[in-house]
Amino acid sequence: MGALLVRGGAICDVASGETIPGQDVLVADGRIEQVGESLTAPPGAEELDANGCFLVPGLIDAHVHVTAGSADLSIQAEDSPYYVAAQTAANLRAMLARGFTTVRDVGGADFGIARAITEGLWAGPKVHFGGKALSPTGGHADLRGPGRQVLDNHTCCAGIGVVCDGVDAVRRAARDQLRTGAHHIKVMLSGGVASPTDRIDSLQFSADEIYAIVEEADNANRYVTGHAYTAAAVNRGLELGVRCIEHGNLIDDSSVELFLAKDAFLVPTLVTYEYLRSEGAEAGLPAESQEKVGIVLEAGLEALERAWRGGVKIAFGTDLLGSMQVHQSDEFRIRSQVQPAADVLRAATLTGAELLGLEGEAGVITEGAIADILVTNANPLDDVTVLAQPEDHVRTVIQDGRIATDQRG
Ligand SMILES: [Zn+2]
Repeated sequence: MGALLVRGGAICDVASGETIPGQDVLVADGRIEQVGESLTAPPGAEELDANGCFLVPGLIDAHVHVTAGSADLSIQAEDSPYYVAAQTAANLRAMLARGFTTVRDVGGADFGIARAITEGLWAGPKVHFGGKALSPTGGHADLRGPGRQVLDNHTCCAGIGVVCDGVDAVRRAARDQLRTGAHHIKVMLSGGVASPTDRIDSLQFSADEIYAIVEEADNANRYVTGHAYTAAAVNRGLELGVRCIEHGNLIDDSSVELFLAKDAFLVPTLVTYEYLRSEGAEAGLPAESQEKVGIVLEAGLEALERAWRGGVKIAFGTDLLGSMQVHQSDEFRIRSQVQPAADVLRAATLTGAELLGLEGEAGVITEGAIADILVTNANPLDDVTVLAQPEDHVRTVIQDGRIATDQRG
């Protein structure tokens, strides 16, 4: 692969919150080889002028469902996997153009999708996947209505989860995801919005089942991330060894203490509730789910502020489904209402990288790191909402040392 020299941009050092102007960045073989002033281009290197622009580490969205082509996940589970793959390819391509060079899928994506990206068959962010999310009967990934008995757990069904009950069954389900190369195991610890029969305030799985899943992930040197809203569900998961909590809209101060004690991560996904309220019905969200949106929407910002003030490790997530996925970048605008720009950007770079086990490799523009770099025409460390309008501000996306998308006229 040829070298690329990015000339004269101002590097956004997300760790310090400072910008370093007039920097050249030389990338080769997918890595950042050299950073400094007035570098010499090696013979044959492509040059990209970034004078007057900012160089931002490639963004990480730690909560996506790339296969969710509809907000009605029960209908989607019965779609042709080929059709869902086509929707997935379109979702991924759009995410990359918004500046997301890596995503963590927490229900739906599998090893085939990750492979399609790494082999270059599809354009898109690199996909860290957990395979199917584990749910108990009647839990957040059990998408049957109350009158339906039949359940199809086949891996080729394009659903987001697998239903399993009892310690032996959850162990087998966890091992099944791990044998496909899953980067983590996703487990449903409480009720959710998009599921038809559970309550937001329900606790899901027994302690024995959760512990068994954590043990299986630990044995494989992987981790468990848990979907949970209430303090009761969040705290129970953290106490049992779950390393990361998705959503967490209804946490309290006791949860914050536990996050700190366990060195666990929180991935708020505020944008999804905003658009579930305004566009959910149109996107296919069933009526019984729409009623649940209000319970978590208002509390979400408050939870983010509580966690941020308490010093919890917060990653960036969105959780959008179906046609609402176009609003992914709006999470930057929502978070900027309670957090300073640098902290919002840290969530989508440094903290996301730490959660994914990519410390020093992603979320930074330093020698030796993976060459995932955005060229922007405004500084997100001054105003992070520039990332909320990628079509206006993200000029070029460099992924693994190659120009992936380029909006220069
Ligand atoms: Zn989700």
